[in-house]
Amino acid sequence: MHYPEPISKLIDSFMKLPGIGPKTAVRLAFFVLEMNDDDVLDFGKALVNAKRQLTYCSICNHITDTDPCRICSDSHRDDTVICVVQDAKDVIAIEKMKDYTGLYHVLHGAISPVEGIGPEDIKVPELLKRLQDDKVTEIILATDPTIEGEATAMYIARLVKPTGIRITRIAHGLPVGGDLEYADEVTLSKAMEGRREL
Ligand SMILES: [Zn+2]
Repeated sequence: MHYPEPISKLIDSFMKLPGIGPKTAVRLAFFVLEMNDDDVLDFGKALVNAKRQLTYCSICNHITDTDPCRICSDSHRDDTVICVVQDAKDVIAIEKMKDYTGLYHVLHGAISPVEGIGPEDIKVPELLKRLQDDKVTEIILATDPTIEGEATAMYIARLVKPTGIRITRIAHGLPVGGDLEYADEVTLSKAMEGRREL
């Protein structure tokens, strides 16, 4: 099927999004044509602004529109505890339960030998650097309960152990093979409470 170029470009853009196949892309593109002009403009602006105005925190690597992020710059938070997660979405999930008051470190991935992702490819070196200032007394490893997440937690635990910093791993009860961000607040809260020493 040949579409006029502007619409085929729009279809191609939608197809770059995760989980969007050709059929859905066509449906979305035609939906946009039916939208009113203001909504389309707002949508376009939201896309561009999200990309332009958001950056990664230079301390914890969380997505933010200020640097350092609001969590790192909040003096009420406990800066002796760092919760290590794979993804910025995990920070948002843990923040939602409102009972964790420490800081975070977002790795942006997990170690995966199969996919050729090593510790240097995620924010492990940055984490080790943060631990050098002697302020931190505990790190909570809250990587996903997957093979990669476990391997990453074990790797970090081994590296940090000699420093004497307390290392804990969030409890299972989280679905194995699951994704931390999808855990409900109660499960997540229990997992955090029941964390064990490594
Ligand atoms: Zn931060």
